Parts: sequence; structure tokens; C-alpha cells
Amino acid sequence: MAGLSRRAVLGSAAALAVGTGAASAQTATAAFGSAKLSILSDGSITLPGTFLARAAPRAEVEALLTGAGLPTDVVTNSLNVPAVTKGDEVVMFDCGAGKNFLPTTGALPDSMSAAGIDPAKVKHVLLTHAHPDHLWGALDEFDTPACANATYHLSQGEWDFWFAPDVFSKLPEDRQAFAAGAQRVLKALEPQLKRFKPGDEVIPGVAAIDTPGHTPGHVSFEVRLGGEPFVIVGDAFTHPVVSFARPDWATGLDQEGDRAAASRRRLMDRLAAEKLPFTAYHLPKGGIGRVEIAGSAFRYVPA
Ligand SMILES: [Zn+2]
Repeated sequence: MAGLSRRAVLGSAAALAVGTGAASAQTATAAFGSAKLSILSDGSITLPGTFLARAAPRAEVEALLTGAGLPTDVVTNSLNVPAVTKGDEVVMFDCGAGKNFLPTTGALPDSMSAAGIDPAKVKHVLLTHAHPDHLWGALDEFDTPACANATYHLSQGEWDFWFAPDVFSKLPEDRQAFAAGAQRVLKALEPQLKRFKPGDEVIPGVAAIDTPGHTPGHVSFEVRLGGEPFVIVGDAFTHPVVSFARPDWATGLDQEGDRAAASRRRLMDRLAAEKLPFTAYHLPKGGIGRVEIAGSAFRYVPA
């Protein structure tokens, strides 16, 4: 390795990523007072359409999708990593899936560079939960924290779930790797990781909102870094049509279906009542928008 600089290694890895089809881009921006929100793409994940609602009548799910002009066989989720800049300071929310998850993920480093955000300048990284598509991008090719100078923040409940001795028995067979990966990445982050409780002001201007169910320790964040508030939703809602029209339907990835549905409705109720803008990790085109009440459910209004 003596003659091979870290930059050269990273450069060749970035060049490889271009061939994988992972989209790197800053997909949306918005100003909230003196803070700027940039949505950085880590790529996308395509799942079978059945992941949208695990127990709902298939015909009803398909009717909703068809009515919105969307395919019914597969669902493609964007990976939107929100970064808030205020002056010199950068706060990031979640980390993308990284290059080890799927060929279509791992674009975040290129997206950050395209947006002019230096990973070394990221002061805080706040995690909504520890699923691979939000966490595994936290480490670089050398298995060290990609944002070397950042303090990482995870809810205590989420840490407890992934490190419980019985975690593997609580996950289906095809998701055992989620727990092994969460443990591996969180252990690597531990020297610079702090844990918080829902309701805490995690850092000045950012409070954690309790939205459990998608994972047991899942949180959203109310951000007031620039004065005007907005909310980082995480995976409390994940689809632009189905989550809003049928918030009661658990998705294939909601660990605790009923709790996830209750959190989804409670958060949507609040966002609609307070007319709070939000960004959600998997919604299309950067996922910045608002929620409106529509009958007994809701409607997504992209910004
Ligand atoms: Zn996710």
C-alpha cells in the first residue's frame, strides 16, 4: 500500500461506481430560514411490489398504484440523504446504504462532492434507525467512519434492539444480515457515537420525535437549525401514494406493523395540522413536501 494513496484508492472506487448505475446527484434543495437543506442521493433500491403492504388485499393495493399511474410489480425507493448546512456547519441525517449493499447504492460520497459538502466538515450525523439503507454507508472502504470528525447519534431503543441477544430470532431469515450489519457498523462508530431518547434535543435545534414501529427505536427529527422548522421523517412513511392513502397498512419492512401504522398516522396528523414541511427518505425526487388531510386519510403534496 506504500505507494498507493488513500485518494487514489477512493478515486478508483468512485470510478467503479459510475458503472453500477448508482445515481449520484443533489436531487433537491430548500431554504429554511438561515439553513439550507440539500437532499443527496445514495442511489435507489427496487423491491417487489408486495413490500408495500404486507397484509392488505392485493387488489386494493394494485388499484391505488394503477390509479396513480405507478407500476404494481415493483416499487423503486429513492435513497434521499438530507444534509443541512448553516454557515460552515453541516448536519447530516442517515448515511445511505453504501457500496456493499446493492450495485444501485453507494452514490453518497459522489453526491456530497457534487454538492460541495466535505465529509470532514460534517459535525453531526443523526440516524433515524439502523436498517442497512440508512446505516451501512456510514463506513468508508476502510471500514472507518466516512465523516471522520462527526459525532454520530442513535436512539437508545434502536441500539438496544440491534444488540439484544435475541435480535436474530426477531428477524425473518432473509433479514439476518440486517442485524449482523447493524452490529458491525455501530461497533465501528461507537467511539464517536452518542445515544439519545425520543423527545430529547439531540443537538441544539434538532429534537427527536418518537415514531417507533418501522424499527423498535425508529425516530423522526424536528429541525429548527435555521429558524423555520421542518421534519426529517425517516421511514415513518415510505411511499408517495400508499403510505398516505392507507397509513394503517404495515409495509413489508415495518418490524412492528401496528406500532408503525400508529406512528405514521400520528406524525401525519401533526404535520397536516401544523402545516409543517418535511422530507422523507424514500419518496421520489428528493421527497420534500407537505401532507394534507384527505377524507379519513392523507395526501402527499410535493414541494
Ligand atoms: Zn429505509
